[in-house]
Amino acid sequence: MNDIITNITRGGQFLVKETKCENIFIPEDFTDEQLMMRESVKEFVDKEIWPNKNRFENKDYAFTKECMQKAAELGLLSVAVPEAYGGMGMGFVSTVLVCDYISGATGSFATAFGAHTGIGTMPITLYGTEAQKQKYVPKLASGEWFGAYALTEPEAGSDANSGKTKAVLSQDGTHYKISGQKMWISNAGFCNLFIVFARIEDDKNITGFIVENDPLNGISLGEEEHKLGIRGSSTRQVFFNETKVPAENMLAQRGEGFKIAMNALNIGRIKLAAATLDAQRRVITNSVKYANERKQFNTEISHFGAIRSKLAEMAMSCYAGESATYRAAKDIETRIEIRKSEGSSHSEAELKGVEEFAIECSILKVAASEDIQNCTDEGIQILGGMGFSEDTPMESAWRDARITRIYEGTNEINRMLSVGMLIKKALKGQIDLLGPATKVRDELFAIPDFEIPDYSELFSEEKVILSNLKKTFLMVAGGAVQKYGTNLDNHQQLLLAAADILIEIYMAESTLLRTEKLAKKLGEDVVKEQIAMTKLYLYKAVDIVSVKGKESIISFAEGDEQRMLLMGLRRFTKYVNMPNIENLRETIASKIVAENEYCF
Ligand SMILES: Cc1cc2nc3c(=O)[nH]c(=O)nc-3n(C[C@H](O)[C@H](O)[C@H](O)COP(=O)(O)OP(=O)(O)OC[C@H]3O[C@@H](n4cnc5c(N)ncnc54)[C@H](O)[C@@H]3O)c2cc1C
Repeated sequence: MNDIITNITRGGQFLVKETKCENIFIPEDFTDEQLMMRESVKEFVDKEIWPNKNRFENKDYAFTKECMQKAAELGLLSVAVPEAYGGMGMGFVSTVLVCDYISGATGSFATAFGAHTGIGTMPITLYGTEAQKQKYVPKLASGEWFGAYALTEPEAGSDANSGKTKAVLSQDGTHYKISGQKMWISNAGFCNLFIVFARIEDDKNITGFIVENDPLNGISLGEEEHKLGIRGSSTRQVFFNETKVPAENMLAQRGEGFKIAMNALNIGRIKLAAATLDAQRRVITNSVKYANERKQFNTEISHFGAIRSKLAEMAMSCYAGESATYRAAKDIETRIEIRKSEGSSHSEAELKGVEEFAIECSILKVAASEDIQNCTDEGIQILGGMGFSEDTPMESAWRDARITRIYEGTNEINRMLSVGMLIKKALKGQIDLLGPATKVRDELFAIPDFEIPDYSELFSEEKVILSNLKKTFLMVAGGAVQKYGTNLDNHQQLLLAAADILIEIYMAESTLLRTEKLAKKLGEDVVKEQIAMTKLYLYKAVDIVSVKGKESIISFAEGDEQRMLLMGLRRFTKYVNMPNIENLRETIASKIVAENEYCF
């Protein structure tokens, strides 16, 4: 355990601490047990979900529930639940893996699964009293009951703590009466229990409650919402009219609801990232299969560079998403284990473990949700007119992907959170950003080293570039903080640009470390496509950092300072040896086209 403690990076520290490839977990490290789990989840999805995609698209909500029950029979609803409450008590990586592979066929089932196992169950396992856990968690783990999470209200969306739903304590103190209106509640149509957030008196913060779904107790539902995507996922308004809730059903303490809501969302965010991965794999595989069959101009369209470049970039994003998601999942798991070894309870350890990596969870949520959107869009393009037809799975995948940028905190909110949390950690002294940022500023004044280093070793140049991207973040964010101080919150455009830089750094580094680890194990020749994906990802990341960095610098700095920072930006985003982008895409595409599937 001591070795682990010295090697593990803290949340957000990736920005200032070098991580060795040996110290990250990669999907190729799955244990035999995890591989078996993956196979059984895939088998379930291929048998029960994928062949019935139409039923989800036709809003067959009863079928969604039926599939949830089948998943429950296989124990798949209980993987994250501790054994003491009827679950499998699997480690965090395994729970992420199940979420990944169970979510690939349709966003409808993915949402029902995520809402039940995540935000519908986790608040009780993590914050419940022993009695609450004993009473509710086994039922939720076994699928006897289904859960939902009722936070959002018509006037309280991103500003979740502003809800108007009230909880009034009875005179004898035995129960609360909850009244209010909740909106966009996933699983509302078939759930047995809601995690409801309501305000007691004029409290600053909301409070969480476990509320059994009983129409005779003042609970009524709106009609099913008609949505762009995830059409088979039940989404309704929920009205509480003096709903009696026993006082012992309060979750944690009065006023702790906002904390519960936010921590449940942290876990939800990394799981949502995972939930986009198998969807991307399936879209890529369907795209390449079509491209290998479809002929135009007497040629399979998979021979055309225009199509090959799309396939290459789709694979690259998916590979990057996998690399970063499982890296973070293992870091969280390790931190949970450390906490447990120090005597924390399961729930305390899990909460703190995930909270530690909340920055990474936000980064992953944003990156993966935008990658699945892009992947499905290009999937449609590869299929041409057929991609636009309901007869192929592309259009529903595209529609389903859209919600991932909105729920679990919109991407704007998550972008701002990622940078905001990082700055907060630095102010609290949990990460030293000031030291490295000062070094970067000193470097800007120093005369650059014109010697061309030896870049013959794999990724030696890429590692220098990655470290320069980190310097760019410190230079840009540091400059903005210096200029605006606590008023930086009012410069959202700068925060968003800084977040884009941060996201690219984490994604590019995770991709590089995964490939480096693989190359060390298998040899560079065996992983030449992964090397190409890594180089391509980094090249694109450098471009994004360059654009966002410039945009920020010219917005907050003027005159000599602006010139100095722009010079630094050029220096930090410079390649000595430019990669050949066409060759990189060609290397990746050749492999996928030959294998006729996403094969990494
Ligand atoms: C299909 C579906 C299922 C859902 N399931 C659930 C569920 O099960 N339980 C639940 O409680 N909720 C659920 N939600 C609600 C979801 O979490 C919210 O829709 C989401 O948090 C955004 O809130 P909003 O829709 O009110 O948008 P708003 O908060 O009104 O946001 C509108 C726009 O303004 C931006 N914005 C808002 N505030 C800021 C700010 N401070 N700075 C910059 N930009 C800002 C947003 O990024 C967005 O682009 C679901 C929603 C949908 C559509």
